[in-house]
Amino acid sequence: PKKEPLSCSNPFEFDHHGPRPTYPRKANATFLTLARNSDVEGVIHSMKQVEGRFNKDRHYPWVFLNDKPFSEEFIACTSAATASRTYYGQIPREQWVQPDFIDEEKATKARKAMSKIRGVYYADSVPYRNMCRFYSGFFYKQPLLQNFKYYWRVEPDINYRCEIEYDPFLYLQDNNKSYGFTISVPEQYETTPTLWDTSMEFFNKNPRYLDPNNAMRFASKDGGKTWTRCTYWTNFEIGDLDFFRESEGYNKYFEHLDAAGGFYYERWGDAPMHGIAVSLLLDRDRIHHFDDFAYEHTAWEQCPDPSTPAYERGRCTCDYKNSMAVKWKR
Ligand code: GDP
Ligand code: MN
Repeated sequence: PKKEPLSCSNPFEFDHHGPRPTYPRKANATFLTLARNSDVEGVIHSMKQVEGRFNKDRHYPWVFLNDKPFSEEFIACTSAATASRTYYGQIPREQWVQPDFIDEEKATKARKAMSKIRGVYYADSVPYRNMCRFYSGFFYKQPLLQNFKYYWRVEPDINYRCEIEYDPFLYLQDNNKSYGFTISVPEQYETTPTLWDTSMEFFNKNPRYLDPNNAMRFASKDGGKTWTRCTYWTNFEIGDLDFFRESEGYNKYFEHLDAAGGFYYERWGDAPMHGIAVSLLLDRDRIHHFDDFAYEHTAWEQCPDPSTPAYERGRCTCDYKNSMAVKWKR
């Protein structure tokens, strides 16, 4: 049946010229978008990017998650923005709200103190903390994801500025990779003063979870004493849900962090948490940098080197000079 947008001012129009490619192979995979109803415009923007640069002929489905029921408008507009199937789920309350064991007085004091520090985003926000905790310990437990193996995380207001000419899900599958990222950035000190020590507490007690060929050097240059603060920027992620679902180490590590309360007493993010977990629990050969992707969010960007064939072939519209790899080179 043909889907009609209800009240969407800006419905996605398919832009097909010439013969449409067909793809003989497909992975068991989905896009994953957490969003509020008020994010609908940014979500449609992101869907246009992903559909236009990659998915229009591949037809991977979309899973949308929200802590509240999705509005009719959100459902109508997002389902009109893709020819693929779309699924909508509501996160169980206990996987979203601040847990009862958190001392609210202590948490409030910590938020107030953090908001006095300049340059700390979301210092005073409880929902942002809920979101970070959710993406750390609960996204992969959602019923809508149980039948999928791979996920590709998509946030509102992102841009893909080159064609994505191969299937990154199949890339992970065929090369035995579990986790893929584009941009890596250091986490701010103020949001995570005790995250590393709390993490090391866990891994010192449970060294059996450390992969013998792990990427510890990404997280620590001195064998675990201090943290590099390096993280993968998790608003882009393509990963294997089985790693999160089946890794006892990952789940025990999350429980340890959760019990320590730092998601609320500090503002531990899912990026530092995933970064430490992926670096320590996985064989480093299972981590992949999608360095040929042109990805941008909130003015942070990865753009491939124009001297590489990927740039021209990908009809890229990004500027290499804006790439973090260039801008941040010291
Ligand atoms: P930033 O990229 O770190 O600035 O954070 P965002 O505001 O983009 O939030 C990250 C992701 O979580 C986005 O996909 C948001 O739509 C989503 N998100 C953030 N807060 C909430 C919330 O309170 N409820 C829901 N349902 N989604 C949220
Ligand atoms: Mn964002």
